[in-house]
Amino acid sequence: MTEPLAQGVADRIVAAVEGLEEELVDFSADLIRIPTVNPPGAHYRPCAELIGERLCEFGFEVDQVVAEDSAEHSTAYPRVNVVGLREGSSDRPLVHINGHIDVVPVGHGWTVDPFGGEVKNGRLYGRGSADMKAGLACGIYATEALRRAGLELCGSVEVSGTVDEESGGFAGVAHLAQIGRLTADRIDYALIPEPLDVDRVCVGHRGVYWFKVTARGQIGHGSMPFLGVNAIAETGALLESVRTQLEPRLAQRVTAMPVVPADARRATININAILGGQGGEDPQTPCVADHCETIFDRRFLIEEEFEASKQEIVELLQQVEAEHPNWSFEIEDLMVVHPTQTPDGSPLVATLEHNIEQVLGREAMRIASPGTYDQKHFSKIGGVHHCVAYGPGILEQAHQPDEWCGIQDMVDSAKVMALSIAELIGVR
Ligand SMILES: [Zn+2]
Repeated sequence: MTEPLAQGVADRIVAAVEGLEEELVDFSADLIRIPTVNPPGAHYRPCAELIGERLCEFGFEVDQVVAEDSAEHSTAYPRVNVVGLREGSSDRPLVHINGHIDVVPVGHGWTVDPFGGEVKNGRLYGRGSADMKAGLACGIYATEALRRAGLELCGSVEVSGTVDEESGGFAGVAHLAQIGRLTADRIDYALIPEPLDVDRVCVGHRGVYWFKVTARGQIGHGSMPFLGVNAIAETGALLESVRTQLEPRLAQRVTAMPVVPADARRATININAILGGQGGEDPQTPCVADHCETIFDRRFLIEEEFEASKQEIVELLQQVEAEHPNWSFEIEDLMVVHPTQTPDGSPLVATLEHNIEQVLGREAMRIASPGTYDQKHFSKIGGVHHCVAYGPGILEQAHQPDEWCGIQDMVDSAKVMALSIAELIGVR
């Protein structure tokens, strides 16, 4: 466990954050004004440059890492990540702050300019305000507050702005971990200011198994369906088995991880898409559908094994096939994300919880996220297990129309981050 800061030092850090409020909000708004929408992954370079310039001003050594070999990278949409390092008197311990710079598409229902960076009623509005440009800005200004407070760092701080989290993070955090930049031989603690509420520390997430089931049938004339085998009918039977057999079994499995909302503590399966027979836009001819594809999203618990979760699906397919000799299903894995959880007793969690209580005057909540985020890459590829998500945005605001982040929450979370960084790496 790290030592709490002397009261005088803590007071100086808190005052420095308060003095930076206007700059912090302006910088966050500037980030929102760059429409880094993903897909397709637009305007990453100017956003990475803006972050890089600010980090340079704040005494960081900055470089860009372009994931040129990634499948997602193209000349039109380059995958530009930015990393800044500020070394103290020692290179360790090192606290790394990571934020994704991509935002999801705007969607409908906005009453403000999604890329205006407008401030009103104590809120900063715009796509990516909560998820998670304000959070990244808070992390950057938390490190700057230590400098403005006149403190010298004993260990080091590093900040990265990375691409593509919303589409899996493969050209972003995963790439940086693969090339040895975000790895445990350099990094002691990683903090990701995702929008999970200013008084909650998020210690991980469940696993994800996306897969496609293709039902195969036999084409025939629609006037004589008994001469064909209808793949959509096969799929209908499969979905009925999922509903009546698999779902009730999954609902009985509950993780010990503190996932919020509580209903997301259960294992779940979602039917994401169905594509069968002739295309809905196509002119229709009378045919028996000979193929039907269904995409499933199975969330599995840290207490479940991936292989067993998949085997359970395979057995369900075999059971439906066994009842109908002409039916056949194929399963194809689309994506597997393993569950991840910060180790019990992590000093990172303890420090954040302690400082949340100091700054907000209420007890911190420890949670796990219903969805996944880049912690998986830090942990599984980089071996950085002392990794959490903690940031100012409200979870329910993520991906919504009229997305906003509360300015008081930004200031409070920046205080929590600054105090925690100071405790973890040491200041004098
Ligand atoms: Zn996010």
